[in-house]
Amino acid sequence: MAVYSGPVCRLCRRDGVKLFLKGERCYTSKCAVERRKHPPGMHGQRQRKLADYGLQLREKQEVKRIYRVLEKQFRNYFKEAVRRKGVTGETLLQLLEMRLDNVVYRLGFALSRRQARQLVNHGHFLVNGQKVNIPSYQVRPGDTISLAKPEHVAGAIEEALRTTGGRPVPAWLEFDLDERKGRVLSVPTREQIDTQVNEALIVQFYSR
Ligand code: SF4
Repeated sequence: MAVYSGPVCRLCRRDGVKLFLKGERCYTSKCAVERRKHPPGMHGQRQRKLADYGLQLREKQEVKRIYRVLEKQFRNYFKEAVRRKGVTGETLLQLLEMRLDNVVYRLGFALSRRQARQLVNHGHFLVNGQKVNIPSYQVRPGDTISLAKPEHVAGAIEEALRTTGGRPVPAWLEFDLDERKGRVLSVPTREQIDTQVNEALIVQFYSR
């Protein structure tokens, strides 16, 4: 499946939810979902009622877009979630949250997950002192995430830290702005994941 490269706000408007794909703009009143509540297109203002399948599919697509993973990879996350003990939907979200690119975003090193992925790809981060340039790398409780070259920080990271520095990080992470270092304290609980989706619908989608 190709990566969608069109206007990302359109995706949020189509799903009717904020997917936080555009960095700081998503937190302002300029957000397209805030300004135009109906879906895009000439028939966007008509009321549409989705059947169960449509609702389940929409929820799955939404989570894929939020975390920016492709179908095959997403399905693998689901299989892994089924294999593990616990509530499948919650485990699925935990696996997505524990991706290195997501953690970099959550810590405030990047303004969006898209930017976080690029920065990880370009080798800007260390996990426990070792360079890791794989965005899907699964972090674990106790891992530290720091800058590969603290003396020569990329402009995008500086800007992100200026913008997000001081914003609280989720309770399962800790961040030291002076040291520019983050730590994973635990696996997030469902309550600690602010992604507003109904993961049970995704489980239903793959269980058909
Ligand atoms: Fe979605 Fe962000 Fe665009 Fe709002 S500004 S529509 S949350 S990508």
